[in-house]
Amino acid sequence: MNKINIAIDGLSGCGKSSTAKAVAKTLGYKFIDTGAMYRSVTLYMLDHQVDLHDSAQVNAALENIKIDFQYNPDTQKNETFLNEQNVEEEIRSMRVAGHVSEVAAIKEVRVAMVRQQQQMGKDSGVVMDGRDIGSVVFPDAELKVFMTASTEVRARRRQAELAEKGQHVELNEVINNLEERDRIDSTRKESPLIKVEDAVEIDTSDLKFEDQVQKVLDLAQQRIEAE
Ligand code: C5P
Repeated sequence: MNKINIAIDGLSGCGKSSTAKAVAKTLGYKFIDTGAMYRSVTLYMLDHQVDLHDSAQVNAALENIKIDFQYNPDTQKNETFLNEQNVEEEIRSMRVAGHVSEVAAIKEVRVAMVRQQQQMGKDSGVVMDGRDIGSVVFPDAELKVFMTASTEVRARRRQAELAEKGQHVELNEVINNLEERDRIDSTRKESPLIKVEDAVEIDTSDLKFEDQVQKVLDLAQQRIEAE
């Protein structure tokens, strides 16, 4: 059967990654969480005290960063590795969340990440979630989805996810972080978060998880049949 590429973009915390992961699993496609890549770069920049305003330092850091995803049979999850170290937990921390949008706005960082992402999806059969997948990474993706949800719903889901990992964060702090990231992501000069014309918008505020996955699967099926 023909394989397509599926781009899932949208606001922070509206369930893009979990939806993309479930869709990829059902279709037998590769799932790529591009947010995890920007988060890993951010972790590196923080740990190495890279001056984000100094392009030479940023470029040197990018040369030293290798990101990949490896399947962990114990957690049954694809986990993120930064220079051979498993950083899956650490990149989800509030410390990283507090700086990632600043790092993701840097042109050199985007060029390096987009290049890797395009390479990963060159043979199709990929579900990729992020902010610029339908606009920049795969402008020719057969299916583009733009996901939204109310700020409160997004914050409560994110708070629950953090709590599951033992991080107890006040709802207000989560709301502030989501709003600040949305603001930076949507207003930055380099590939800002936008809903492209040919994307299908799905508001997940009142949807059960299974239903939002099914909506994307139905759209994917239509596109696959049309190929
Ligand atoms: O998807 P997630 O919330 O993990 O992404 C973290 C951050 O990475 C976003 O707030 C955004 O600043 C950045 N990002 C991006 N482009 C992508 C994916 C993520 O700029 N394709």
